[in-house]
Amino acid sequence: MTLKLYNTLSRKKDEFTPIDAKNIRMYVCGPTVYDRPHLGNARSVVVYDVLYRLLCHLYGKDHVTYVRNITDVDDKINAAAKANGEPISALTQRIEGFFHEDMAALNCLLPNKEPHATAHIPQMVAMIEKLIAGGHAYVAEGHVLFSVSSYKNYGALSGRKLDDLIAGARVEVESYKREAGDFVLWKPAEAGDDPSSVFPSPWGAGRPGWHIECSAMSSQYLGDHFDIHGGGADLMFPHHENEIAQSCCATPHSQFANLWVHNGFLTVNGEKMSKSLGNFTTVKDLLDKGVKGEVIRLALLSAQYSKPLDWNDKLVEDAKKTLDKWYQILRRHSREGGNPQETGMPDSIGMTAYLGAICDDMNFPKAFSLMHSASPEELRMMGAVLGILQQNPEDWFKGFGADYSRELRADIKNAIDEVNSKQAEIISLIDARIAAKKSKNWAEADRIRKELLEQGIILEDKPDGTTDWRRA
Ligand SMILES: [Zn+2]
Repeated sequence: MTLKLYNTLSRKKDEFTPIDAKNIRMYVCGPTVYDRPHLGNARSVVVYDVLYRLLCHLYGKDHVTYVRNITDVDDKINAAAKANGEPISALTQRIEGFFHEDMAALNCLLPNKEPHATAHIPQMVAMIEKLIAGGHAYVAEGHVLFSVSSYKNYGALSGRKLDDLIAGARVEVESYKREAGDFVLWKPAEAGDDPSSVFPSPWGAGRPGWHIECSAMSSQYLGDHFDIHGGGADLMFPHHENEIAQSCCATPHSQFANLWVHNGFLTVNGEKMSKSLGNFTTVKDLLDKGVKGEVIRLALLSAQYSKPLDWNDKLVEDAKKTLDKWYQILRRHSREGGNPQETGMPDSIGMTAYLGAICDDMNFPKAFSLMHSASPEELRMMGAVLGILQQNPEDWFKGFGADYSRELRADIKNAIDEVNSKQAEIISLIDARIAAKKSKNWAEADRIRKELLEQGIILEDKPDGTTDWRRA
């Protein structure tokens, strides 16, 4: 099966040809840890989680290296820590914990390496020194700046013209910049900066620019030439353009990343998500409202990944209905004696068509349409590639609360006790209702059914007189 991905750099769907099929290397820009992840952040993480799962499926898990950084030094972090009145390290550790918690609730796998920017300052300093030595960067007023005019291919990724960027008629230019498009590699510390955001360098104490972080960390873990670089469309310019300029100038003749993948924007009810519009939604907001992590995941995957995705209530409802339907198929299959963990033949006609859709620039809408006509065994296998449908169907319908795994992590023992005692309570009420029906006490049976419904429990009466249940 040939994987094709839309390559922002070549502006076409490129066939993916690994540099080394035994060591596929992918770098994705990770979070700047100053605020809890919102739905736009989550879309990007989920999209690259699927790409990672797909690469593992095609080449074997041991042959894929996925690196996603943590940006834990940045102006936004300094500003947020100051606003909260807390030390930077307390803020970054807390937000990183939230990031991991929320992405785990969306069933995202951890990357193979998750390097922190603050642990790679010497590598960044070394790269900046190379750029200065090569005539691509200059020191001015305690700053080190990259000279965009020193790199003739600058603008190739985003399609912007170097001349326009140099002139920069529309942007306010700091006095220490030679040209408007020049960007910061190193900036000096300011009076009152938290010491944990200040690092020594040959140009004085300060901190690195954001762009150099990704160039230094990708080079450290993946080398100067690797397969795939991913991130949100909002990072294409200037972040990714600047990464390419830095890496290609620090290591002349290197190609940096072969394939550039960008996921589309996320809007909420047709509007840009922003705090000022009051539609800023974090993953945690939704989990707290009782939306299951897997429902959020499916909703985030429902559009073609590179296209914009509009988030609204109907999208969430549809994702829940679809998952309920698929889990119902899996539940029926396992109750009829099928093994709930059983998977289909990897080369079945359905599975081949499905993989063909996923390998065609991750055509999720087509893949979902094929899942609607799949056998139960195929369904489980198809779901594995997308990171859905891997729960026990009984847990899907009966698991307590919005996100079972999240509650388990919060307090494992309490959560299990709570689930067990709640389930025991439901079962004893169902038994009482069966007894009431047997003694023809219809009013009591109906009262119990309503009581359970108020708790969000739906009863399913079977022809053989037994009653099953599930959560609404
Ligand atoms: Zn980056």
